[in-house]
Amino acid sequence: MELLSPAGNFEKLKAAVLFGADAVFMGGPAFGLRANAGNFTFDEMEEAFKYLHERGKKGYVTVNIYPQTHELSDIAKYLKTCEQLGADALIVSDPGIFSIIKQEGIKTPVAISTQANTTNLAAVNFWADLGAKRVIMAREVRKNDLEEIIKNAKCQVETFIHGAICISMSGRCLISSYMTGKDANNGECTHPCRWNYALVEEKREGEYFPVYEDERGTYLYNSKDLCLLDRIGELVKMGSSSGKIEGRMKSIMYVSIVTGVYRQAINEALKDPDNYKAKKEWHELLGSVSNRGYIEGFYGAEEDVTAINRQTSGYSRAAAFLGVAVKDSHNDELEITCRAKFAPNEEITILTPDLRKINVTPELILDEGGFKIDATRPNYIYKIPFKEKAPVGSLIMRF
Ligand code: SF4
Repeated sequence: MELLSPAGNFEKLKAAVLFGADAVFMGGPAFGLRANAGNFTFDEMEEAFKYLHERGKKGYVTVNIYPQTHELSDIAKYLKTCEQLGADALIVSDPGIFSIIKQEGIKTPVAISTQANTTNLAAVNFWADLGAKRVIMAREVRKNDLEEIIKNAKCQVETFIHGAICISMSGRCLISSYMTGKDANNGECTHPCRWNYALVEEKREGEYFPVYEDERGTYLYNSKDLCLLDRIGELVKMGSSSGKIEGRMKSIMYVSIVTGVYRQAINEALKDPDNYKAKKEWHELLGSVSNRGYIEGFYGAEEDVTAINRQTSGYSRAAAFLGVAVKDSHNDELEITCRAKFAPNEEITILTPDLRKINVTPELILDEGGFKIDATRPNYIYKIPFKEKAPVGSLIMRF
């Protein structure tokens, strides 16, 4: 099973590769579903595919909006450019875009996006018969159905294994368009499903009647996040072609840690899927990155009444992200780019791409000029004394 990670920008792409992704998915300058992610220019895409291919990895481009007719004029040129730049697949949901790829003779394999809401075997094979190389299943598919689909599919089947879930049927959602005019199906979701709601009687403007089960509030639509870490053995055994981590908008810390955890999980499951068991420390690491609480979503067949996080619209996170190593450690020193403030004599943790946790309490921190400083500032480069081995990309964290 391929491990497929989100690449919101080039820095996150490199983090995903360092922590063990086999492939990444990214948005180009247009037609992807994350208008607010960093996304890639064509020049960056070319560089990204070179970087990936030199390392035996793959890069897929999301072209998964549902465009209006007037938005289609440049799409053929755009798709051809992605092919020429070296994309390993185009991720598509709209049948119109799919047919343009075929009409234009574009040879890049097509993966049908989860946005197409493919929920059953007949639909998977419908796309396979039309020439799709892979179908990314809707997140609303249950385990037994998934097993049946993978067994009988005429093409590759990709499964979401981790990340945010929409309260609507996948992302086919109008709440954001309705509340803010920003269309989720054009990559502009403003996440109103996470907001707090109240009840107002028509003629009593400004009088908000709380609708709640308890004093914490009313986040009726705020789904918890998907986590299939305990199911990786089953998915490997079923023959899922790819396990996808959601989150192109998430931080480097999220991409690194979630990728690192699932890398180890898939490696273990490939050795002996029947006896696979997720390690406690993997769950702890997933708890350290931003999340809304975890569920197995539709994968577990039973209705899950705890699937909505009614307590807050925010994320929880057990660790702070302080920086990233910019070089391999050498000469008893680690050079980092800082993301959040920390000070000498504070205990910090270095997390390497193979998920080793090294705790250190540096007595001094030096700036680029070699001067001692009292506290770090984000976006500056610093050096800390460090006698162990930690490669470039290692995370600096505070638990
Ligand atoms: S508003 Fe919520 S449910 Fe709708 S697309 Fe956005 S994240 Fe998904």
